[in-house]
Amino acid sequence: MVIAEKIRNILEQPYIISDYEHHCSSSIGISLFPEPNISASELLQQADKAMYRAKEQGRNTICFFHPSMQQVADDKLFLEKELRRALKHQHFKLYYQPQTDAKGKIISAEALIRWHHPERGVISPAQFIPIAEDSGLIIALGGWVLNQACWQMRQWLDQGMEMDHVSINVSSRQFRQADFVNTVDQALKHNKLDASRLCIELTEGIVINNIDDTVAKMRALKRMGIKISIDDFGTGYSSLAYLKQLPLNQLKIDQSFVRDLTIDLNDAIIVSTIINMAHNLQLEVIAEGVETEQQKDYLLQKGCQVFQGYYFSKPLPVDDFRLYWERMTEVS
Ligand code: C2E
Ligand code: CA
Ligand code: CA
Repeated sequence: MVIAEKIRNILEQPYIISDYEHHCSSSIGISLFPEPNISASELLQQADKAMYRAKEQGRNTICFFHPSMQQVADDKLFLEKELRRALKHQHFKLYYQPQTDAKGKIISAEALIRWHHPERGVISPAQFIPIAEDSGLIIALGGWVLNQACWQMRQWLDQGMEMDHVSINVSSRQFRQADFVNTVDQALKHNKLDASRLCIELTEGIVINNIDDTVAKMRALKRMGIKISIDDFGTGYSSLAYLKQLPLNQLKIDQSFVRDLTIDLNDAIIVSTIINMAHNLQLEVIAEGVETEQQKDYLLQKGCQVFQGYYFSKPLPVDDFRLYWERMTEVS
């Protein structure tokens, strides 16, 4: 540790190239010789894992290898292998969560992926989407989601289930693909779906990263008629100045603010500010994670008119989604 600290300090010293001062930071991974029969390459692999952990901890740090890291790496590897198999055997399903008015009538729907693993049961997207991103499998998976959601929307419209649009989640690596806009265009054409029937949800993080590419793609999507929503809004660092420049349709208030808005004054203020901001920028606003009547009432009173959350409905498989739609159509 003392030696690693010394190395880190030396590497941290500024140096001059062509009259300019440069800095460099290092992340150091250390692996010890706990077992006598460990091979040199295994030892290096462990140090490598520790180094990646050091990077994750914000760089410029030192980290020791721990067996739990091996477990995490093994789990990741297992899921990655299983993901490939699942893609091949179509073990994924899209669930749809209603996005409703204050009375629960469906306005649109968000497609949320589910993985039914034959032995492990349902695996949450929060667990496998990051692995799909890291391994590049997200391209195939995201392509499947896009096509499936467009196909489903076409079915609903053909069956007379009128809805404004279906929303899909698009991850960073997928959005960064050079042919992303073209892929979306193909999916719409293939399913004979008007572009206005599709909404793409992007997080603030995706949007901020590489802003030039983002704006160019967003404009191209917008020209086609596709809607764009900023997911988990309020958790990133969007400034009003750049929000104004983006061709958006919707802000989606993050569920963390909705959860506590009736007990935490700060969250209530943030929510009300986002709603005002959306109105001022002439954007639609939707609240997600709405679980109680009080939350819905507060949001409504502040001017938010579209809701998504367990108070109205969980994400549903297609058959149950239809039942919900029928029930709500009878009511209204
Ligand atoms: P997200 O886009 O923010 O989706 C909202 C999550 O909140 C969903 O979790 C949804 O089931 C859950 N939720 C909905 N209403 C409530 C509520 O009232 N209370 C609470 N506590 N939770 C609620 P889910 O389905 O597990 O998805 C997790 C995340 O995985 C999503 O977060 C999204 O980032 C990602 N994801 C899901 N499907 C896809 C997909 O097809 N592609 C990509 N790239 N990401 C996806
Ligand atoms: Ca979303
Ligand atoms: Ca969200």
